[in-house]
Amino acid sequence: MEIVTVCAGYSSANSYLLIDEETNQAALVDPGGEANELIFAIQANAVKVCAILLTHGHFDHILALDEIKKYTGAPVYIHRLDNACLTNPEFSLMTLAGRNDTFASADVLLEDGDTISVGTSTVEVIYTPGHTVGSVCFKTDAGIISGDTLFYESIGRTDFPGGDFATIDASIRCLYAIEGDEKIYPGHGEPTTLSHERKYNPFVRQR
Ligand SMILES: [Zn+2]
Ligand SMILES: [Zn+2]
Repeated sequence: MEIVTVCAGYSSANSYLLIDEETNQAALVDPGGEANELIFAIQANAVKVCAILLTHGHFDHILALDEIKKYTGAPVYIHRLDNACLTNPEFSLMTLAGRNDTFASADVLLEDGDTISVGTSTVEVIYTPGHTVGSVCFKTDAGIISGDTLFYESIGRTDFPGGDFATIDASIRCLYAIEGDEKIYPGHGEPTTLSHERKYNPFVRQR
């Protein structure tokens, strides 16, 4: 796959296009920003979006969900434990942002280990709770989309409803246990790699 970053989000949340080069089908991860910018990126890359994948249900990752769903007609995927964020603006922290947006339930509720086909490519769901109860990472052959679980030398906040430090610590150790040096594409900020974080992450250091 090819991973294209679209930084169009509120609080500069990253959206990603996961593109299957063979078929030009793509999954769009976390439509948090301006719908227009996301639609521009879809057009500029000449892809057909066949899935909208959510790493978790916080507002800064879903603000453009309705417009992108309407534009692409693609089904929405979220872990079953974060689906409530779509319908409850307190769980999505939408209320913290001074908004009250709610959304339809997702079309597909994810579980750990699920796979999603994008053209000839496969996206694997890794359940990584701790930032929220239903946070996931998406693993592709080009790297891992880590949402708000793992950032460059940082980790997701655990002081929001459903957050828990011991849980995110365990989730990140599961990521560290993945062999090799996968590239990490986080929900905010610049990309990193598993080997860099195993060594330098000040919050979860590999033991
Ligand atoms: Zn978040
Ligand atoms: Zn975020």
